[in-house]
Amino acid sequence: MSIEDVFPKQAGMTRKIFKAKDTVAAAGYRFDDLVSMTSFSIKKMYAALRVDFPKVQWRRMVCNNLGSPKWTFHLTLVAHRSLYTRDRLAKWGMTNDTSCPLCDAADETIEHLFFLCNFSSQLWKKLLTGQHIQRHVMGCNQELYWAIRKAKANTYIMVLVGCVYQDWQDRNLRVF
Ligand SMILES: [Zn+2]
Repeated sequence: MSIEDVFPKQAGMTRKIFKAKDTVAAAGYRFDDLVSMTSFSIKKMYAALRVDFPKVQWRRMVCNNLGSPKWTFHLTLVAHRSLYTRDRLAKWGMTNDTSCPLCDAADETIEHLFFLCNFSSQLWKKLLTGQHIQRHVMGCNQELYWAIRKAKANTYIMVLVGCVYQDWQDRNLRVF
């Protein structure tokens, strides 16, 4: 007969305490520290457990974006270069056709598909004009950089993120 058979609740609690002991140790606390503490901060322990990652530059595009969560998630994929564009599929040997489905005049890369492609650049140019911004359309990297560094209004970022999402939807409509 084990302790679990006699005291099932206490055995479960003991297991949780031992598990918590490992977590507390991972945060850098020693047993003596815990005993001598007069107060304990979960916030400080969380900060000690959390790994500090460098903040990505494009976080402004995703955080507090007024647009749809679908748009911001999609922009995260674009920023990570994780979309299944034809140039990536060709590298994996999954397709031989690398042409852009929107214009058929260049290879489909993220840099081309968003903003440089004739189809998507026309849409973006109209959206820029609608916001009274007079400048030429740039490539994906430069447009994201411009939005992060120079865009004053959050609505600009919302429109840009929505445009990138719409370009991808149009692309998928052509492909599928
Ligand atoms: Zn194109």
